[in-house]
This record gives sequence, structure tokens and C-alpha cells, in this order.
Amino acid sequence: MYFTVFLITALVALILLACIAVALRGVSAPRSTLFGPVSYRGAAGHGRNVALSFDDGPDEEFTNQILDILKVHGVPAAFFVIGRYSETNQDLLRRIHAEGHVIGNHSYSHNHFGAFRYTRYWEHELAHTDETIHRAVGLRPTLVRPPMGLRNPLMMKTFRRCGYTTVTWSCRGLDGVTTTAKKILDRISKTVQAGSIILLHDGTDPFGQRNPQSTIDALPKIIADVRSQGLEFVRLDELIDVTPYR
Ligand SMILES: [Zn+2]
Repeated sequence: MYFTVFLITALVALILLACIAVALRGVSAPRSTLFGPVSYRGAAGHGRNVALSFDDGPDEEFTNQILDILKVHGVPAAFFVIGRYSETNQDLLRRIHAEGHVIGNHSYSHNHFGAFRYTRYWEHELAHTDETIHRAVGLRPTLVRPPMGLRNPLMMKTFRRCGYTTVTWSCRGLDGVTTTAKKILDRISKTVQAGSIILLHDGTDPFGQRNPQSTIDALPKIIADVRSQGLEFVRLDELIDVTPYR
């Protein structure tokens, strides 16, 4: 009798743990489509192409340096901008656009607890950020990347209903925290492959602490390393076959 009760309790606990693990994966794994479709790598048929993407700018000092490096090396990129930074960096958005890069929405406030917020909150975050981008370049993006890649079902439903494509990544430098240029380069070099969406950061999120200088130091080496592996940079919207603006 006791053994049967123990077995049933253990089984229920196991099922609960499995459900929690699946839900956590849906919230945080860049490749999970549990709560809706995500683009985490290139569409089929894109050969040896990869795309660079930057989060958490625009930043007066660091985004300009990133743009300088991309220009020298002829590399297109995607910039997922934070709305509250875009308000005060309109010229920088114009420079990103004028130099042939694409701009995506990375929320207005980059709240770390955004994955616990729902429809009304996300409608406001998206619209408010789009407005700052539109004011600068006259375009409204269709690409969105949730802060830290964290999602919930209602948030993903809002993204879809408002016509956005959710973009995560398949290769990252883990440069959103304090690290070194060598570690960033090593991580990208070992994990990049055909179709990769590479995630780096050109700014610091409003609640984070780091120095994006390590990313700037690593970037020219990353570009050379990726090319030495026979891979070619294309713009993110081309890699995933999506029209980037409405
Ligand atoms: Zn971010």
C-alpha cells in the first residue's frame, strides 16, 4: 500500500518536473517554438551565409565604433534597438539605416521582468519603440527580439498579431556581461556555422553592467575568423527571408 502511494507520488512529481522543464525551455531557449514561431537561424537554401546582429543600443560611443568597423570590413548587420535609447540617439538610428544595416525592435524599456508581462504591456512597448524608429528613419520594423530572448505565450501572440517576426539567435558571444575579447571570439569561432544568426551587443541594457569595449575589440577578429571558415555575411532579413519594414 505504502509502496503504491510512494510510486504514484513519485510519478506525479516527475510529470510536474517534466512540465516545468518544458515550460522553462519555452520561455528561455532561443530555438524553442513552444509559444510560437521564432527565427533563430537562416532559412534553407542560403548556402554558407550567416548574419550579425547587435542588441541593446544605440549607444553614442559604442554603436559608432561598431559601425566604423562594419564599414571598413563591408559587413551588413541588424541592430535591435532599445526604444528609450533611440529617443535620444536619433542621429545614430539614421546612421545605422544610411549605412545599409537593418533596424529591429528590442522593446522600449528592456525590463528584465518583461516575460512576466502580457498583451497591453507588450503592445505599448512595441508601438512606443517603433515610433522612435519611425521618427528617425521613416520606417516601422517587422523584426523583434525580446529582451534576453525571454518569451511567454501572450507576448508571442501579441508579436504575431501585430505583424512581427520574432528573431532569436543560434550563436552568441555571451558579451552581454563583463567578459574579454578573446572569450567572445572563441565562443563565436567554435559555434558559428552556415545559417547562424550571431548575437553581440553594441550597448548596455538599462539594468545591466558591462563594458562593450570587449565586443569592439573582438569584432574585427570575429569577422576575419568567420570569413576564414568559408562563411559569408549577409543582412539578417535576407538570411531569414523576411521583409524588414512595413
Ligand atoms: Zn537586450
